Amino acid sequence: MDKIRNFSIIAHIDHGKSTLADRFLERGGLVVKGEQILDSMELERDRGITIRAHPVSLDIEVDGVKYLFNLIDTPGHVDFSYEVSRSLKACEGAILLVDATQGVEAQTIANTYLALENDLVIIPVINKIDVKDADIEGTSKEIVDILGFKEDEILKISAKTGEGVDNLIKAILERIPAPHGDPNAPLKALVFDSHFDTYKGVVVYVRIKDGTIKKGDKIKFMSNGKEFEVEEVGIFRLKMEPEDVLSAGSVGYFTALIRDPLDVQIGDTVTHANNPTKEPIPGFRKNVPMVFAGIFPLNTNEFEELKKSLEKLHLNDPAFTFEPESSEALGFGFRCGFSGLLHMEITIERLRIEFGQDIIATVPNVEYEIVLRDGRTITIDNPAKFPDPSNILEIREPIVDASIMIPPDYIGNVMELITSRRAVYKEMLYPEEKRVIIRFEVPLQEIITDFFDTLKSVTRGYGTLDYEFIGFKKADIVKVDILINKKPIDALSFMAHEEKAYYVARSMLEKMRKVIPRQMFEISLQAAIGSKIIAKERIVPYRKDVLAKCYGGDVTRKRKLLEKQKEGKKKMKMVGNVEIPQEAFFSILSVK
Ligand code: GDP
Ligand code: MG
Repeated sequence: MDKIRNFSIIAHIDHGKSTLADRFLERGGLVVKGEQILDSMELERDRGITIRAHPVSLDIEVDGVKYLFNLIDTPGHVDFSYEVSRSLKACEGAILLVDATQGVEAQTIANTYLALENDLVIIPVINKIDVKDADIEGTSKEIVDILGFKEDEILKISAKTGEGVDNLIKAILERIPAPHGDPNAPLKALVFDSHFDTYKGVVVYVRIKDGTIKKGDKIKFMSNGKEFEVEEVGIFRLKMEPEDVLSAGSVGYFTALIRDPLDVQIGDTVTHANNPTKEPIPGFRKNVPMVFAGIFPLNTNEFEELKKSLEKLHLNDPAFTFEPESSEALGFGFRCGFSGLLHMEITIERLRIEFGQDIIATVPNVEYEIVLRDGRTITIDNPAKFPDPSNILEIREPIVDASIMIPPDYIGNVMELITSRRAVYKEMLYPEEKRVIIRFEVPLQEIITDFFDTLKSVTRGYGTLDYEFIGFKKADIVKVDILINKKPIDALSFMAHEEKAYYVARSMLEKMRKVIPRQMFEISLQAAIGSKIIAKERIVPYRKDVLAKCYGGDVTRKRKLLEKQKEGKKKMKMVGNVEIPQEAFFSILSVK
C-alpha cells in the first residue's frame, strides 16, 4: 500500500488538465496518440468540460522503485459539486493546476475549496511556463494571496513540453500520503462512479477503504441493502483489466450482473453481505430527482426515437428519470426528473449533441406536496396535475440547506441575492481568512432557474453553490395558466410562489408578445390564476403581404419565398386559431 498514490488533477477549464493527464499516461507506458482519452465523450470536448470520471492506474518508476499512481479524473465542472467531492473522497491528494497566462480563476478557487473540504493534500502547480507571455510571478503571487499557499510549495511545469513533470511526480510521492486502511477489516468501498455495460451490467467504480473484494464475494450496497455476487474485479488501464483481488487503498471496478443502474448510487458504500462493516462512509446523499421538466420531440413522429435515446441515457445516468406525458400544445413527450438545474441542462445538451434529438423543454419546476380537503396527501411534479384550488388544504414546497462559498469581498452582493429569493439566513463561517461560507435555507424553486447565473455574475464567477434537501415546508404556491385568445396552453402553465407569480407571468407574456408573429386578427395573451387574470398583453393584427416586398419583378425570388413560407408552416403549431412558430415556443420556454 505504501507504493500507491491516489490523486486527481483539479483546474479551471483549459488550464491544461487533459494535457497533463496525457503526460502521466505516457510516463505510465500508456501512450495515446492524438486523442486525449481521458475526455472520451464527444460532448465534453464540445463544452470543454469533463462530465464523467475516468480513473486510470499507472505504473510509474521513480529511482528504480515501482509505484502505482491512480489518477482519478473528477467531473471538471465544479457545479456538480457532490459528484466532484465523491471523486475527491477516493483520493488522498490533488494537483491544483493554474495556467500561467490566465492566473487564478473562478473554478480554481471553487476546486480548491472542495479539495480542502475533503482534507486532501494539495500541490499547487503553475502550468504553461513555456508560453512567451506567461506571467509566472504574477500567477505565483495570486496562488499565495488568493488561495493561501506558500510560495515555496508551488511547482512550475509545462504540461505540453513535459518540463517539470518529473519534479511533479517526485512531489506527488513526497507530499501526498500513501492510502491507509486495513486489508483485514470488513470490506468498506466507496462508489465514486459507474457506467453501464451491455454484457456485464453496471460497472461500479470503487475506492477500497478497508478489506478486500474478489470474484465470488457476496456484496451489499449499504444505502439500499441490495445484494449481488461479484463476477469480476479489476483496475483501469486504457481499458478495464481484470485482477484477482482489490484490497484496501486500491482504485478499480467490479461487476456483479447488476441490471438496474438505479441500484448503484454515487457515494454509496459497498461491503460484504455476511461480514458487513459497521458504519458506511459518511456523506452519502440519496440520488433523488429534484427538478422536473417536460421534454418533447420537435417532430411528433420522433417520439419513439426520443424514447430510445432516453432509455440509453438513463442506463449511464440513473439520476435522471423519465415517464411519458402528453401535451395538447407539444404532443407526446416525457416528464423528466433531474438532480438539479445543471444536470438538466447537461442532459438536454447530451440529447441534442450525442443523440441528435431535436427537442423542446418546458420551464423546470420542483415537486410539491399537496394536502387535499379529503385528507389525502399527493405529490406533483407537473403543473398539468395541479388539483382544483378549492380542493387544496395546504401546499408544501421543498426546502434546501444551501451554502455559498465566496471570497469575503462579495458578502454584500450575496446577501442581497439570497434575501431576494425568500431565503432564511443561518450563519456565516470563515474556515480560512480568504474564504467565507454563507449558510441559509431557501425554497428549491428559488434556486433552480437563474440563481446560479446570477450568483456567478454578482461574484465575478467566484461563488460556488452547494445545497442539500432538508424537507417540505408550507408555502403559498399557485398554478398560473397562460392563455392565448382565452385558450389555456398547457405547455406554458407553471407553478410559482404567489409573490412571484405576477413577475414571472409578466415576463412570459412580454416575451410572447415579441416572438409570436402578428396575425390577421388581434391576439390576446393572458396569465391567470384560476379564473383571476393577473396579467395581459395583446398582439395587434397585421396584414401579412410578404409577396409585396418582391415588387412583382423576380419570379424565382417569389417562388423561393413561397417555398420558404411553406417550410415555415410545417414548423408551426396551431393553438386554437393562432399559429405559433416552433421557434417562439423555444424562446418563450427559455424565460427565466
Ligand atoms: P483542460 O480543459 O484543463 O483539460 O485543458 P487542456 O489540457 O485541454 O488544455 C487546454 C489548451 O491548452 C490546449 O490547447 C493545450 O494544448 C494547451 N496547453 C495545455 N498545457 C499547456 C502547456 O504547458 N503549454 C502550452 N503552450 N499549452 C498548453
Ligand atoms: Mg480536459
